[in-house]
Amino acid sequence: MRTLPLPARDIVREQLIVALEMYVWKGVQHGYPVSEDELDAVVALYDAYDAAGGAPGDPLKGPNLDQALRTAIQNAYDFTRVGRRLASIRETLLKDVERCPVCGISAPRTLDHYLPKASFHPLAIYVRNLIPLCADCNQLKSAAASNDPAEQFIHPYFEELPNGRFLRTEVAIADGGLVADFGLDTAVEMPALLAARLKFQLNRLRLNERYAQEINTYLSSHTTALQMCFDALGTDGVRDYLDRQATVEFSQFHGNYWRPVLLLALAGHDDFCAGGFRDVLPQAPALPPEALAAVAQ
Ligand SMILES: [Zn+2]
Repeated sequence: MRTLPLPARDIVREQLIVALEMYVWKGVQHGYPVSEDELDAVVALYDAYDAAGGAPGDPLKGPNLDQALRTAIQNAYDFTRVGRRLASIRETLLKDVERCPVCGISAPRTLDHYLPKASFHPLAIYVRNLIPLCADCNQLKSAAASNDPAEQFIHPYFEELPNGRFLRTEVAIADGGLVADFGLDTAVEMPALLAARLKFQLNRLRLNERYAQEINTYLSSHTTALQMCFDALGTDGVRDYLDRQATVEFSQFHGNYWRPVLLLALAGHDDFCAGGFRDVLPQAPALPPEALAAVAQ
């Protein structure tokens, strides 16, 4: 879970003009003949969205805007698809976001409307309401915007997350498998509402269940390295490797990325480090005796 840089909004007015351009398709008129005053009103609504940090509220639905204008903006979201006239919105937002900011499992290939476009029509193409998410997170989030602040998702552009590492996991070896339970580190100070929202997000997006499916695949990529460290340096070698690899991934990605959080927890798991990793991961060939001797010197 991480935040993302706030997207620039210097061309939102131009984007609205392109979105509302009039055209005829199969004999039917589309678009909307927007006036300067109406553009001002939509941009003012964007200002209000920014000021509220994306918190839902009826004024953000644009009750004073012409219904036809609201519908035209809502429909214009289709123009953000590849090859269409607002495709640059999608390209710009997805560019440089390597992993889904919420789960960190896969690349974000979809844009989620933080406030759903079904209710908040004027926000359908507003760049700061469009969040890059992976398809699974997007689907599980659903289109509802709860009025209960404890049941709202973290806004990756506006939320201030604590500096510390707040994601933690407890690991156990059970029935020949590795079980990891991800949750919030209660030792990290944060406002109660933020903690509630992070927990809500963990549950709603079924992150524990989804991480469980990823863990074995991810750790399999470390099998040979773990085995070599164990053969050459024993339990401490395994622990040191896990610690170092966690440092690499924390700095490459971010402090609340599930993979290094898992590695750190494993570094603290005595049985895993003392060779227990072999019971839960695929077997890797042991180091040949001459290699062991070379490391020992
Ligand atoms: Zn995701």
